Amino acid sequence: MFNQTQIHNFNAGPSALAPSVRTELSQAIHSIGGGPGILELSHRSQAFDRIIDDARHQISRLYEVPDSHEVLFFQSGASLQFAMVPYNLGTFGGYVTTGEWSRRALAEAHLIKIREQEAPVELYSEEANGFCAVPSQIKMTNYSTSPQLNYIHLTSNNTIYGTQYHKLPSLLGLNGRELPHDGFVIDASSDLFSKKIDWSKVSILYGGAQKNAGPSGVTLVIARKEISRSAARHPFCPKILAYRTHAEKGSLYHTPNTLGIFAIGAVARWLNQQGGLTFIAEKSLKRAQLIYQIIDDSDLYQGHADSASRSLMNLTFRTTIKEAESDLLEQAKLLNIYGLKGHRSVGGLRASLYNAVSDNSIKVLADLLSKTAKKFGA
Ligand code: PMP
Repeated sequence: MFNQTQIHNFNAGPSALAPSVRTELSQAIHSIGGGPGILELSHRSQAFDRIIDDARHQISRLYEVPDSHEVLFFQSGASLQFAMVPYNLGTFGGYVTTGEWSRRALAEAHLIKIREQEAPVELYSEEANGFCAVPSQIKMTNYSTSPQLNYIHLTSNNTIYGTQYHKLPSLLGLNGRELPHDGFVIDASSDLFSKKIDWSKVSILYGGAQKNAGPSGVTLVIARKEISRSAARHPFCPKILAYRTHAEKGSLYHTPNTLGIFAIGAVARWLNQQGGLTFIAEKSLKRAQLIYQIIDDSDLYQGHADSASRSLMNLTFRTTIKEAESDLLEQAKLLNIYGLKGHRSVGGLRASLYNAVSDNSIKVLADLLSKTAKKFGA
């Protein structure tokens, strides 16, 4: 069998899984507790009840989810949440556009608005600046008075552009005064399970698991119960898109992605065993700093993101000498390095340093970047 330790996986998603999670998954495919394996097990069985309860428990422990919020599992990726959010919370949301995914979220809210007065509002756009940063402040002057926005939507980590919020932005009202806000809706698809969350400010946090939290096909939603246990606000919300439908049935309203739920639970357990999100966040910072340092120290590389907005998950950069990029990608192939090519819409290079990428893989990448810089004399 091929030795997985020889693979260095920097894919943006689906992406690396930890070896111990991979082993657990392959065992679970054969059998759960001496009975049928996870792919052949009824989602109405006691064995699956234990699996989904444990997944909820591991995630709640890892994220320190308070009683005010609950963990739900969905399918159809983060893209479905772009629609579920306005269906459930209302279409009069404020959107912060920092890349392609936040743009798509805003477009979806526009599609389902019924009246122009309930149209979503773009509070801020980074587009004119080439999506190089995320804002630390958002001026709310026009929206701080009644009627209040239903929520403020942002993308915590921009997978394509490699930018990330390291703190939620402050909202500035008239006179530049900071407004309190407890209604953030966060698309955390590409930085799930990477840092602690201040739940007092969050109505909903969601993300597809396939980057930092497991395989594709399962979407994590952590919602304030006031929302997930209430009727959807949109008058034509289909039953399947109402959070309450799923919350009342413990995410078993219809057949869930059983394998995905097993896997996301196993990933959360693996992270809890390592010491939780304080440890993980420190580790991510060190690993990203190692690569950013090489980028900054060499004239061959140019980072895409402004330094204060740099992502610790997806590191985006280019080479200043054209041939160096193809040379680097050729060398990467020989070293079994996968996933370094930037997203097709921006080009360049991107290294995704998710939790399951080993320290050794990061060292192999660092060596390749340094050697290529030397080779091109920059
Ligand atoms: N949001 C972000 C930040 C993403 O990176 C992605 C996928 N790359 C999506 C949303 C869309 O996710 P999905 O494919 O799971 O619908």
